[in-house]
Amino acid sequence: MDMHIVCGKCAATNRVPAGRPAATAKCGKCRQVLFAGHSAEVDGQTFDRHIGHDTIPVLVDVWAPWCGPCRAMAPAYEAAARELEPDVRLLKLNSDVEQSVATRLRINSIPTMILFQGGREIGRQSGAMSANQIVQWVRQLVP
Ligand SMILES: [Zn+2]
Repeated sequence: MDMHIVCGKCAATNRVPAGRPAATAKCGKCRQVLFAGHSAEVDGQTFDRHIGHDTIPVLVDVWAPWCGPCRAMAPAYEAAARELEPDVRLLKLNSDVEQSVATRLRINSIPTMILFQGGREIGRQSGAMSANQIVQWVRQLVP
């Protein structure tokens, strides 16, 4: 089955044919690699595009710059991105800037990570985690 993958850079939806390695695929619009081993910073609009169009699972880290545990977890989240891509798309949403999205997601504390598949929430974790813990948690939910 073809995959639909939203570009982490320009948020264009790309169709990646079945059997073609997504790890090396480039965006048809901005020509950047679809997966560079980094999380992608999203706003409300690009967040909705990822959740609505990606056929791969999408993990979002809801954080804020003033939150010490969020900043402490950032390197672990990047390490998890290197590990989980291109099976999973990793996003970061700044809840200070995108308060309406944070409210819609019923975020009570940060950092909170939410895993989506097919537009639906399938898992949620609050509190900082190590890279290994993030990877294990995600792999459990989307083997
Ligand atoms: Zn692009």
